[in-house]
Amino acid sequence: MNGKTFVILIVTLFVATNSQAQDEKRKPNFIIILADDLGYGDVGFTGSTQIETPHIDALAEQGIVFTQGYVSAPVCGPSRAGLITGRNQVNFGFDNNPIVDLPQFDENYVGLPVQEKTMADRLADLGYVNGLIGKWHLGEAEHFHPTKRGFHEFWGYLGGGHDYFPAEPDGKAYHREIICNYKEPQAITYITDDKGDECVEFVRRHKDEAFFLYACFNAPHTPLQATDEDLELYAHVPEIKRRTYCAMVHRLDVNVGRIVDELKAQKLYENTLIVFLSDNGGPVSGNTPWTLNAPLRGSKGILLEGGIRVPFTMTWPKEIKAGSTYDKPVSSLDLTPTFVALAGGTISHADPMDGVNLFPFLKEKNPGSPHPEMLWRFTISASIREGDWKLVRLPDRLPMLYNLRDDIAEQNNVADQHREKVEAMLKVLGDWDVSCPQVLYLEGNRWRRNQVDLYNRKYQLVQPEGHYQEK
Ligand code: CA
Repeated sequence: MNGKTFVILIVTLFVATNSQAQDEKRKPNFIIILADDLGYGDVGFTGSTQIETPHIDALAEQGIVFTQGYVSAPVCGPSRAGLITGRNQVNFGFDNNPIVDLPQFDENYVGLPVQEKTMADRLADLGYVNGLIGKWHLGEAEHFHPTKRGFHEFWGYLGGGHDYFPAEPDGKAYHREIICNYKEPQAITYITDDKGDECVEFVRRHKDEAFFLYACFNAPHTPLQATDEDLELYAHVPEIKRRTYCAMVHRLDVNVGRIVDELKAQKLYENTLIVFLSDNGGPVSGNTPWTLNAPLRGSKGILLEGGIRVPFTMTWPKEIKAGSTYDKPVSSLDLTPTFVALAGGTISHADPMDGVNLFPFLKEKNPGSPHPEMLWRFTISASIREGDWKLVRLPDRLPMLYNLRDDIAEQNNVADQHREKVEAMLKVLGDWDVSCPQVLYLEGNRWRRNQVDLYNRKYQLVQPEGHYQEK
């Protein structure tokens, strides 16, 4: 090689490397802000008259609202397993919340099966740095740990929840120590704020890289614990549980605002795709439920719309027009394939997902429906949606059929008038059911009775009136 050729080679290499770096730089950042047990009707953009969520609403206004956004399960663990893999978790036996103390199950298998690839695994392969802040709930054995599942950074806890206020860590339930692999974890102040701090710090630390931040707030999951300052904002709400819950949602909203502010300060907001959603519907129990899924019927734990249709937005100023809505059904299962595609990856036929890349649909290149058919199964019930039709199958009654176009609250069971439709949908649901692997573990038996009762109870289907005026 002569000197001239060498110089040309070096220059070519430099240009190639530099343009590759610029390509990497142009990749969008991804943030999923996952609320926990948030009622469908408990944020401004889904119609709350009682709870003000200006920062969450701003995400909705500056992006796209999915008016029929679903999760793949009505409880935390399986919903998260679907979201993080892009596969309906029932297809790999993760039907239930991981419970580690049932004698007939091997705890080494109580978690997200290690052969399942997570969104973080896939994005790591594409050059992303990934952080999980908050709740994991996908297994506690060492091999299920988030840092073994594609996350480079983790600040949080492995189980299903945590106290909001400082408590002496005792290693049990909601008083476990915070785990962190990048620093000595700070003492808890109010955990929603602490998670907000960690999200902001993550953005600062990785502002020059393509990143994926999975911001798993536990708000507003129980225990119902809010600061006095936030409770004061909702002093006009008479019932203490509801008042506390309103205050918890407010604090979540404040921290959503802090994350967005940091993105703007770092000039990253334009090219960051932010998804906001809840992992399942609001729980409804007792005589004075603290969450509201209006106008949907049902709750956490069951497959009526109130259990699985959630507040769901996607914001990406560079690519998504502000103030948009998308009215066809979409799923949290779509997030993994969508992000992988946007990050420059491909999904092979040998590696099938149940979710789909939403962008061809959102960009109106594909006028079809991302999901002509959707399937759910959770403990006692299973459900199938085809177009506007939704069938729910329970162990103690004939199947129920609703037409969601006319009947969003699933109040009019029309199964008697559409027997052939019922039979056809039951067939598809049953064929899926018997083709799935055995479930990896079960939840405690009491939940099965609890869930039958949840199908029978009455739900508040309208927002309370006049609360803003009472302030
Ligand atoms: Ca949840």
